[in-house]
Amino acid sequence: MQAPFVDWLTLGSELFFQLSSGRLLTHLEVSPELRTDAAPLAWAARPVHARGVRAADRSSATTIAATQLWIVGAGPAGLALAEACVARGVRVSVLAPDPRAAWRPNYAMWLDDATSLGVEPYLAHRWPGTTARFAAGPRPLDRGYALLDDRRWQLESLARIERAGGSIVAGTLAAIDHDDEGVQLDCDDGQRLRGQLVVDATGHGSRFVALEAGPAPAYQVAWGEQWAVEKELELDRATFMDWSSTGAAESDESLPPTFCYALPLARDRLFAEETVLAARLDHAPASYFPALRRRLDRRLELQGVGRIGEPLELERCVIPMGAALPRADQRTLAFGGAASMVHPATGYLLTTVLRRRARVADAIATELGHWVSPGGPSRRIWQAIWTPAEVRAWRLYSFGLEIICALDRAALDRFFAEFFELPDHCWRGFVSGTAPTPELMATMLRYFASVPAPIRARLGSALFGREGLRMLRGFGGLQRS
Ligand SMILES: Cc1cc2nc3c(=O)[nH]c(=O)nc-3n(C[C@H](O)[C@H](O)[C@H](O)COP(=O)(O)OP(=O)(O)OC[C@H]3O[C@@H](n4cnc5c(N)ncnc54)[C@H](O)[C@@H]3O)c2cc1C
Repeated sequence: MQAPFVDWLTLGSELFFQLSSGRLLTHLEVSPELRTDAAPLAWAARPVHARGVRAADRSSATTIAATQLWIVGAGPAGLALAEACVARGVRVSVLAPDPRAAWRPNYAMWLDDATSLGVEPYLAHRWPGTTARFAAGPRPLDRGYALLDDRRWQLESLARIERAGGSIVAGTLAAIDHDDEGVQLDCDDGQRLRGQLVVDATGHGSRFVALEAGPAPAYQVAWGEQWAVEKELELDRATFMDWSSTGAAESDESLPPTFCYALPLARDRLFAEETVLAARLDHAPASYFPALRRRLDRRLELQGVGRIGEPLELERCVIPMGAALPRADQRTLAFGGAASMVHPATGYLLTTVLRRRARVADAIATELGHWVSPGGPSRRIWQAIWTPAEVRAWRLYSFGLEIICALDRAALDRFFAEFFELPDHCWRGFVSGTAPTPELMATMLRYFASVPAPIRARLGSALFGREGLRMLRGFGGLQRS
């Protein structure tokens, strides 16, 4: 004879019974001495079969566990959203193959964004100003820049999620199934997990989210190296972009136009990255690394940067730019790279996820608070992920991306030299992705009027061509069937 229940756990003051049938009974008040506050959600997030249910019973054991929201992916987007959701009382579990593995990229952002978004305590480096360099000369930008201590941010974020009752679960998602009760996640290793909602935060190129039809994304590709250097570096400015040519050898390299991004990390330490801002590539992005590396080497030689020994760190960067937006008629939600939140003109994503996480978490908490049955996709949550105004702005940016992809190095040099001549608030709002659509349009028109004739001709033909049409057609918001 089977026992009526095979396990129990407490979450705060609630007691949950796991029945042998696999169902989880909830909402029984439990006395304080029975509470297991030390790890309140850890059990709930583990696969049901790992706790007393035989493996053969696994399919019947896949019941709705205590997790309300699964966030798949433990990158910056997944953790930022998980933190915001647990802070609103949502029972969250984060799933990733190796959730505590160090993030690979070195994340940077504008200093004022770091301050306004509350990540200033996690800055490893800050520069009071930045410089952009063009054929016409350097252009000092009165805007500070910052590099994140992303390991500390990541570990503290994980700790905060767990302290607030969230769970961090190791596993690789293989498939998502939505049904009348919620969502079921099947992992590579046979784990079967249940919840009410799922957010895909698995980064660019997610397999689980359907995107609108559209052109293939362009790519930002970069090769970065950190060096100990001989000459004393000035620490007051980061180089946001240096479009200067590295000489005649460039014509043999079959590379799209590149610029150099450089961060003086200490008086004797430099991080420099040769970057294709955005291009439609003929070959796999990684195949451009050797040529980028050679160009960076030549640039540092030309600039007289004496390097000591071997590079201290390498960074290889491939970011899809202007990937199509997620469709709003699906029940699998998305956030971060999986929701195409990368800024189509700069490749940055961090500030966008930090800016949107609170309102997305609000929408999720509200939806779960009024949970009746999952029904269709949640319009409210999708509109918090991408507001109609942000979709309009994104379409404008994507139009700009098409232009960037079409220009050669000399034209890009002129393009950005003109761009940074715009009034400060115009270019700041544009690169931070904070300018409202009318201001964005005004910036673009103003820019249109000020650029040299050949660039204006290119912009005009794009505006009245396919790119312009696509932009106007998509102004209504995320697509639904
Ligand atoms: C080298 C580099 C430098 C960058 N620098 C900056 C920068 O300075 N500033 C900036 O704003 N942006 C930068 N970006 C762009 C952007 O911020 C990153 O791409 C960012 O990592 C995307 O965050 P994410 O959380 O959406 O996805 P990711 O960081 O890619 O995280 C995805 C997570 O999902 C997990 N996962 C994947 N598949 C599965 C699965 N099947 N099941 C479970 N889990 C899964 C992964 O293990 C990981 O935990 C950079 C990108 C690169 C590549």
